[in-house]
Amino acid sequence: MQLDESLTIECPHCHTANCVSSGRFNEAPICAGCRQGLLAGTPLALNDESFAPVIEASARPVVVDFCSSWCAPCKMFEPVFSAAAERTPAVLFARVDADANTRITSRYVIRKVPTVALFRHGQLAERVSGALPPKQFDAWLRSALA
Ligand SMILES: [Zn+2]
Repeated sequence: MQLDESLTIECPHCHTANCVSSGRFNEAPICAGCRQGLLAGTPLALNDESFAPVIEASARPVVVDFCSSWCAPCKMFEPVFSAAAERTPAVLFARVDADANTRITSRYVIRKVPTVALFRHGQLAERVSGALPPKQFDAWLRSALA
């Protein structure tokens, strides 16, 4: 029997807070506000509270961009990451504000931004730091997923 937990997920399209039960997390939940897919096409913002339950509930691998609002390389990498999210439906893409969510960054020892990390079944599998250009990021993603 799976324990159902209620996850609060901010819609990446319209920022409405949605309540999704963890048992339904992999059934392509739709935003109550804008009716778009909550977990499709656009990186999901995660925080100290939502991070662990979401990466554990996700049947798909989760790729997380740890970034900071003041960081220029993060700004450069942002569209690269978003473009990959649009064309890689087999992966759940998420972003974590590294300054505001220090429980996660200290747990995974994130010392540089941007750092991208791949989680499978809630476990950290691969990570890379620095603003990778599109081709290099795609190559990293392919090898991390292989
Ligand atoms: Zn929405």
